[in-house]
Amino acid sequence: MQKQSSNPRSARHPVFYTVDVEDYYHILGVKGTPPVTQWDSLPARVERGLARHFDLLAEHGARATLFFLGYIARRFPHLVRKAVELGHEVASHGFYHQEVRDMQRSVFEADAADSRKLLEDLSGKEVRGWRSAGFTMGEGTPWFFSSLLEAGYAYDSSIVQNRPQHDTLFRGENRPTFLTTESGRICEFPITMAEFGSLKINMFGGGYLRFFPAWLLGRAASRELTRKPLLIYIHPRELDPGHPRLQMSIYRHFKSYVNLSGVPRKLTLLLGLAESLTLGEHYEQLLLQD
Ligand SMILES: [Zn+2]
Repeated sequence: MQKQSSNPRSARHPVFYTVDVEDYYHILGVKGTPPVTQWDSLPARVERGLARHFDLLAEHGARATLFFLGYIARRFPHLVRKAVELGHEVASHGFYHQEVRDMQRSVFEADAADSRKLLEDLSGKEVRGWRSAGFTMGEGTPWFFSSLLEAGYAYDSSIVQNRPQHDTLFRGENRPTFLTTESGRICEFPITMAEFGSLKINMFGGGYLRFFPAWLLGRAASRELTRKPLLIYIHPRELDPGHPRLQMSIYRHFKSYVNLSGVPRKLTLLLGLAESLTLGEHYEQLLLQD
């Protein structure tokens, strides 16, 4: 809901700052991605990167939704507890960062339920939100939303609307939307696109946020915030530019590591445009309006 005020910042829709809490070795689909069996032996950087997000958020009095990988939560339970202590929302990014399209429905549901239970046990809070590893759902996983409901989730934030493979799952507007499935209703928080007519451009997360110049991001975000909330997605490693690099093609190297040094400035700019809310808080507001 758009607030009425003479202050431009508070007249805008909210910013949703979302972090996929995983480590530098969780980049999907590249030559150098290590198997799960090697994860425990790799030097971890996630604590360093996440601490910088916590600091940046505190500077802005902002709160975030943190999609924890179950593996990271189990190995670093203090990060989950710290997130709760700072007032952030804990949500799930699955247990082992598996691509949803490669999983059988029963395996997916077990992964979603197990990671949710672990995060609830560690945080002492209800876990309602899910984000898929690599946004990898689509035509081959028509059960995706029903399965999330079966696993106890109330909302998802995995739809990227300029990916044709997501069309069969979601064709709504680029804003938080309730969907009806055979298992009940679920709320979708799609990744925010900059919209130019029917053209949708991914700008406010990961490699896209690092690629576009700050002035353009600021202009596009200000425009979108007059129409809808702005959902940013980012990772701990993106505030830790010294993290180890994985072996990958030149194209993926560019996409994975371009402009890491510019990220703090861009996130500061976006956080300054509007008030922040967690996805869970906005979900509750939507339920009240319903
Ligand atoms: Zn991820």
